[in-house]
Amino acid sequence: MKVLKFGGTSVGSAESIRNVRKIILEQKGRKIVVVSAMSGVTNKLVEVFEALKAGRAEVVSGHMLELKLKHLQLIEELIEAENNKRATENLFLELYEQLEEIIQAKPVSEAAVVTFGESFLSLIFSQFLEEQGVSNTLLDAKDFMHVSNVENPEIQTVQKLLKATLQREVASEVYVTQGFIRIDRNKNICTLKRGGSDYTATIVGAAVNATEVQIWTDIDGFHNNDPRFVEHTSALTHLTFEEAAELAYFGAKILHPQTVSPVKDRNIPIYLKNTFTPNAPGTCISNSHHSIGLKAISAKDGITAIKIKSNRMLMAHGFLKKIFEVFDKHETSIDMITTSEIAISLTIDDARNLDKILSELDEYGEITVDTDHSIICVVGEGVINDRETFRLFELLNDLPVRMISYGGSSNNISLLVDTKNKVQALQLLHHKLFEEKILNET
Ligand code: ADP
Ligand code: ASP
Ligand code: MG
Repeated sequence: MKVLKFGGTSVGSAESIRNVRKIILEQKGRKIVVVSAMSGVTNKLVEVFEALKAGRAEVVSGHMLELKLKHLQLIEELIEAENNKRATENLFLELYEQLEEIIQAKPVSEAAVVTFGESFLSLIFSQFLEEQGVSNTLLDAKDFMHVSNVENPEIQTVQKLLKATLQREVASEVYVTQGFIRIDRNKNICTLKRGGSDYTATIVGAAVNATEVQIWTDIDGFHNNDPRFVEHTSALTHLTFEEAAELAYFGAKILHPQTVSPVKDRNIPIYLKNTFTPNAPGTCISNSHHSIGLKAISAKDGITAIKIKSNRMLMAHGFLKKIFEVFDKHETSIDMITTSEIAISLTIDDARNLDKILSELDEYGEITVDTDHSIICVVGEGVINDRETFRLFELLNDLPVRMISYGGSSNNISLLVDTKNKVQALQLLHHKLFEEKILNET
C-alpha cells in the first residue's frame, strides 16, 4: 500500500484536480489518497469561526456563501454528466448543511468548523474520480484518526481502527480520505494543527506499513532555503529522516513539523513531489546517506527568548534542574539553550504559559524576555565538520545574533535573531554558504 497526500494548491482548482487524477492513475497498486482542503478554504473557515466568536452574523453568512459557491463552482467545472453533477451537488449540500448546524451550536467547536474544507473536497474528489472511471472508496478519517497525543501519535490504535474500516468498506484500489482532522481521547473533533495533512499521511503510512508516502505539493521538492524569502534556492534530491525532521521542526513550511516521526523508525521513505511538474525528481527522504555536510537552511518564527541572570548560579549544582522543572510543569518545551557562569538563556515557541513561567522563575534571578525572534537553523549531516560552515559566523559582522547553538548535535547549528532581521539573515547565509561556495569551486 502507498499513501499519497495532495496539498491545498494541488487540489485548488478543477485543472489541478485533473492533474491529480493523472498522477494517481499512473501509480500501480493499492493506495490511500489523503487530501487537504482547496487552498484558501481553511483560512476562510478560520475567519468564519472568528466572526462567530465576535458575534458578526453578517460576516459569517458572507463567508459561508463564498464557501458554498466556491465548491458548487468546482463541481460544475469538474463533473461532466448532468446526473452525476446533481448527485454530487446534493451530497455536498448535505455536508454544507451539517456545517450550518455546527455553527449554530453553543459553544461552537473551532476544530469541527475548520476541518470541513477537507470533508468538502474529499467528497467532490471521490465523486470526480468515480465518474472518470477510477473506482474508489471514500473513508471518513474520523473513523480511524484517533490520535490523542499529537507529539507521539498512537499508531497502533490508528492501525486497528483503519484495518476495521478497510474491512467494513468496499474493497478498492484507491481509498480517498481527509487530512488534518483527528479525534481526541474524549471523542471530540480536533486537528493536527495547520498544515497537518502531511502528518495525517505519515500517520496513516505508519499504520498501514506503507511502502512509501508521497507528499504532492506546489514545488519540486525540499529546497536548500526558504524560496518565499530567498532567490535562487534549489531542490535537494535526498535528505535523511533526521535532516528533514530537523528542517521541518525548525520552520520549513513544506512539511508539517512532525511529519517525519511516524515513518522514521519504520523506515518508510517520503517522496516530496510537485503536482504541476510530476516528472521532476523531487526529494526522497529516507535512511540512505547520500552526502555529508551542509544541506539546507530554515527559519522558525514566534520564538521567545528568556534570560535568567543569577549570582547564585555560580557553582550551584541543581540550578538548571530547578529552571527546567518550571518549564516542564507548564508543559512548555525548550528549543535552544546557552549558558554562561551567571546566566542562562533559553527559547520557547509556545508562549501560552509564559506569565506563569515568569512568575515562578522570578525567585531564581533577574529575568529578561525578548519576543518576536526567529531561530535560523543550518542543517546537514555532520554540518559542524563541514569546512565551509565556519563562514556562517561572518553573519555576526552584519547582523545582531541573540544566541548561537553549536555542537548540540553535529547535524544542526541554530542562530537566534530578531524576526525583523530574519529575511536578511536567510539571504546572507544563503549567499555565504551556498553561492560563495559554488563560486570558490568554479
Ligand atoms: P501544501 O498546501 O501542498 O501543503 P505548503 O504551502 O504547505 O503546500 O508547502 C509548500 C510551500 O512551502 C512552498 O510553496 C514554499 O513556498 C514553502 N517552503 C518553505 N520552505 C521551503 C523549502 N525549504 N523547500 C520547499 N518549499 C518551501
Ligand atoms: N487544510 C489544512 C490547513 O490549511 C491542513 C493542510 O492543508 O495540511 O492548514
Ligand atoms: Mg502544507
